[in-house]
Amino acid sequence: MQKWVYSFGADANDGRADMRNLLGGKGANLAEMASIGLPVPPGFTITTEVCTAYYDNGSKYPEDLDAQLRTALKTVEDHVGLKFGDTEKPLLVSVRSGARVSMPGMMDTVLNLGLNDDTVQGLEKASGDARFAWDSYRRFIQMYGSVVLGVDHHRFEEIIENAKLDAGVNEDTALSPDHWRQVVAEYKDMVQQEKGAPFPMDPHEQLWGAITAVFGSWMNPRANTYRRLHDIPATWGTAVNVQAMVFGNMGQDCATGVCFTRDPSTGENIFYGEFLVNAQGEDVVAGIRTPQPLSKLRAEPGEVSMEEALPSAYADLVAVRETLEKHYLDMQDIEFTVQQNKLYMLQTRNGKRTAAASLRIAVEMAEAGVIDKVEAIKRVSPASLDQLLHPTLDPKAPRKLLSKGLPASPGAASGVAVFNSDEAEMRAAKGEAVILVRIETSPEDIHGMHAAKGIVTTRGGMTSHAAVVARGMGRPCVSGAGAISVDYGAQTLTASGHTVRAGEVITLDGATGEVFIGSVAMIEPSLSGDFAKLMEWADGVRRMGVRTNAETPLDAETARKFGAEGIGLSRTEHMFFDPARIGAVRQMIMATDTAGRKAALDKLLPFQRQDFADLFRIMAGLPVTIRLLDPPLHEFLPHRDEELAELAETIGTDLETMRRRASELAEANPMLGHRGCRLGISYPEIYEMQARAIFEGALDAKKAAGEAPIPEIMIPLIATRRELEITRAQVDKTAKAVFAERGDTIEYLVGTMIELPRAAMMAEQIAEIADFFSFGTNDLTQTVFGLSRDDAGRFLPDYVSQGILPKDPFVTLDIDGVGRMVRLAADGARTTKPKLKMGICGEHGGDPASIAFCEEVGLDYVSCSPYRVPVARLAAAQAALGVGVDRTA
Ligand code: ADP
Ligand code: MG
Ligand code: MG
Repeated sequence: MQKWVYSFGADANDGRADMRNLLGGKGANLAEMASIGLPVPPGFTITTEVCTAYYDNGSKYPEDLDAQLRTALKTVEDHVGLKFGDTEKPLLVSVRSGARVSMPGMMDTVLNLGLNDDTVQGLEKASGDARFAWDSYRRFIQMYGSVVLGVDHHRFEEIIENAKLDAGVNEDTALSPDHWRQVVAEYKDMVQQEKGAPFPMDPHEQLWGAITAVFGSWMNPRANTYRRLHDIPATWGTAVNVQAMVFGNMGQDCATGVCFTRDPSTGENIFYGEFLVNAQGEDVVAGIRTPQPLSKLRAEPGEVSMEEALPSAYADLVAVRETLEKHYLDMQDIEFTVQQNKLYMLQTRNGKRTAAASLRIAVEMAEAGVIDKVEAIKRVSPASLDQLLHPTLDPKAPRKLLSKGLPASPGAASGVAVFNSDEAEMRAAKGEAVILVRIETSPEDIHGMHAAKGIVTTRGGMTSHAAVVARGMGRPCVSGAGAISVDYGAQTLTASGHTVRAGEVITLDGATGEVFIGSVAMIEPSLSGDFAKLMEWADGVRRMGVRTNAETPLDAETARKFGAEGIGLSRTEHMFFDPARIGAVRQMIMATDTAGRKAALDKLLPFQRQDFADLFRIMAGLPVTIRLLDPPLHEFLPHRDEELAELAETIGTDLETMRRRASELAEANPMLGHRGCRLGISYPEIYEMQARAIFEGALDAKKAAGEAPIPEIMIPLIATRRELEITRAQVDKTAKAVFAERGDTIEYLVGTMIELPRAAMMAEQIAEIADFFSFGTNDLTQTVFGLSRDDAGRFLPDYVSQGILPKDPFVTLDIDGVGRMVRLAADGARTTKPKLKMGICGEHGGDPASIAFCEEVGLDYVSCSPYRVPVARLAAAQAALGVGVDRTA
């Protein structure tokens, strides 16, 4: 016979905390609390298996369920000495839902079940308190009526409001027994009218009605939506808890409350919570009266703390707090009720907390020896660290929402709206805080993005140019705010009927994607000692290295500060956009012969040399991976005729020639076109100049610092062994030449990005030529899926919402497909060179789930944007500890 019902709190406890799959979180923890001797009103849990069976069998219960339920109910009756449905001393119960994970959308709890026109008389007599008895009855009709029968709760509230008006009182507690009697009569009439049937009087019918409503709520649309959003399978089912009532509404020595064993917003080790005297259930959160603080220390003038109002129950609660933390080894979120000065525990679970609190609690618990350091490392969600590194909106500050886009880069920023990058730079130079608002951004906006405090785009996804660059720079960014329309001509943005002009202040929250009108107060991040400590512990256990993607000295310095162990990707093209050199870059592109190109490249050489020397200095003694020129050349060309004409003049030609050359360079599919090593094959002098700049810069840095950097030169977009052979030979030849000229040498590596399926398939051969591989998973995702990153924003959201893809594959690595390609390449490479150094440098290098995968494949390092370095350090540590993919973030 299958066991469908588990008792708790009576003489035997059938359940335990680790049985949450079967009993739900609430049921499992009620049993656990009872078993460690805490005062839990007795009851029983109907298992999640009943829920599953109910749905599998066309909404029918298992046959023996009723018998098991009656036995369990009898146990409760015997334990408390009351009888369910008894007209003298009736047992009342609560019916509570409880899935494995707490889940909004599930049925609300029904309290005081078992009351009817007869039993309420018994309750009145037994308690000697008519007000209490009738207050309980009206609460029951109200909860059962709205939750189980589906009567709009406003209908009940109207009746109470009228009763209070008639009685001339403000608070529910001031109503007399007769008032409540009247309210009950009106409630019943109203329900009869609404439902066309009388309110059920039979306690067993009530009980089954409530149980069925809980199971029914498992499949309601709210619950379904929540499950879809949180990857919770419908097969888990919910449990139902039936529990003897205790009463917080019996008078001044009674109360109900909720609390956390530590402050859930800061993590401070203080008791944190609220309670209400003479109240029941969720009165505390419902805002019926103002809840009061628990401890005297926290009480403001005019407030009466529980410590003062109910000293002995408070002392018991303080002891329970200690017991629970010691037992669960984590901060608890608890619900309790006091009946006539006696404390009862009604719920406990690991408390939700902010990122800051999570960090502080983990570190303090480890330092106090409650948990060990490894456990502390596992407890903090890596993704949540992001929040700690940026300013955030003050949760208490008032705000006016304008619109919402995607949370592309965390942090909050306020400033004047500005619609182009030059103006952003100009106004920022004058000390103004600006928010750059663009339909979308391109590499030409880098200086404006840099100058801005935050960026808003109306188009593009989480991996749009704006999003990637903003994350890299640590600028907060909201991307793809499609409901905002930007009018560059009028210099305005408009959303939900509200227009903001250039120069007016807006605020954005890059963690939520919200954009607000005006400014909103902010809280600056403070990287506490706890942060450094946790990072140090994490570094102690991780196997993979953590590098950064950086091209500017500022980025490189930021990343060092966050603990980066070198550079995993330096994109040289970003350096080309600097106003001081874009002219020479364009001249190089427009040149029609090698001599013309060489002349332009000669002008670029000193700039590049300096760029690299700076990075080498900051990363002294650490590896620095520099990727040779990658994007198609036309990306550097101006678009407008005036600019083309200007360029024609500087290089001594005419506009017509310029236009012709520009159209020669235009490509139908530039991302699959003349880019990456294909440029190095066509124009060897470009890569030669870059290699020269690297070697000369490295030798300069060596001379200045006495410590030689280790350049790792990376050739992009290799598909064949031969491509790498040719381009590598150029680099080696340049190295030889520079070393001979300088009379000095350094160590260096030449490797490639694996970002094309062919390269991954042929890794065995390509590895023969490479000193290292770096998986460029942005392009690899693009090419494995055959899906353009710049256009995917239009349809990827549909793919995710229809469940075709679990997540945006540009954010979290598609382990099944792209990951398989990575594994194939890594395995292939190792057959040629068992110790080949391998890393990842796509956006995925900062994504915890993807980092876990990199650990599995045995990569040597991950590389990510500077602000993600701490996230990656912690994620790499968790991956090394075998923690599964982090789903809580
Ligand atoms: P939720 O899942 O929304 O937290 P609960 O099942 O915890 O709902 O019930 C909400 C509140 O109802 C509890 O915090 C408690 O105050 C009250 N409650 C539930 N069961 C009982 C009971 N047996 N006796 C007294 N109060 C109860
Ligand atoms: Mg609730
Ligand atoms: Mg609860």
